[in-house]
Amino acid sequence: MIRIATTQIGENGYAVAGDEPGDLLDLAHDPVARAAGPIRYELTLDRAGQELIVRGRLEAPLRLRCSRCAQFFSTTARVSSFLRAYEWADHPEFLDVSADVREDILLEIPGFPLCRAGCQGLCPQCGQDLNDGACGCVPPGDGPSRWAALDGWQASPGRPPAPGGPGPKRRKTT
Ligand SMILES: [Zn+2]
Ligand SMILES: [Zn+2]
Repeated sequence: MIRIATTQIGENGYAVAGDEPGDLLDLAHDPVARAAGPIRYELTLDRAGQELIVRGRLEAPLRLRCSRCAQFFSTTARVSSFLRAYEWADHPEFLDVSADVREDILLEIPGFPLCRAGCQGLCPQCGQDLNDGACGCVPPGDGPSRWAALDGWQASPGRPPAPGGPGPKRRKTT
């Protein structure tokens, strides 16, 4: 829990920094994301009338499951401009920013995490991780012969299929 002692806030505000266990993110049962270390926070608090303004930066090391190859990889969620206003009317001694810190960090987790930009993913037929190398399966419909043969047949029945791929795209008229 990130609780800040508000009695420390003077005329010039108050700066606080520290680490908080990654458990705060409550990701123990998340299928895609895990906390991988303490959350680092650097926050400043300022009074503004009846409100406390909290600004700052957050960093949380994470393990995310790649949406293509299903392997977990390490990354860091960074929130560069955390900003919240809290009611300050009844001057609570402690301000608990845990829920908002958690929310902002979780918003940094991409919907489709990728372990790397060019992740090859898994073979849909045998399940091999294609980042480790080709598996030898021929993707259905993507072989060198099928469409090329059809194209050849449509263009001129006597001509053999063009080698090396499907050739120029053409609308089928069958
Ligand atoms: Zn991947
Ligand atoms: Zn395969």
